[in-house]
Amino acid sequence: MKEIDYDKAEYVTNRKLENDDGEETGQIKMFSYDNETFHYQMTCPFCGHEFERSEELGSRPWWIECPECERSSNIKRIKDAAKKEVKNRAPDPSDVTE
Ligand SMILES: [Zn+2]
Repeated sequence: MKEIDYDKAEYVTNRKLENDDGEETGQIKMFSYDNETFHYQMTCPFCGHEFERSEELGSRPWWIECPECERSSNIKRIKDAAKKEVKNRAPDPSDVTE
């Protein structure tokens, strides 16, 4: 996955995905520079398959299908996750490069 340019990114998230038993066996990293085309790297919580994709996503809820096992994961509460991430990032002095 390409390096994320946080200055340009309108949207960034990185969260765990649960399988049927509620175990966090999967993960998704997702970002967008325009809130239309979303780039993501995902580990399927059901079969462990890793894949990357870029696509336009419409209105929520988003369902992303694994090309390996063809099961879909609901990317819910992604907005809250993003907010939290931004909030957590804000006071981080390591973001300052000068
Ligand atoms: Zn899968």
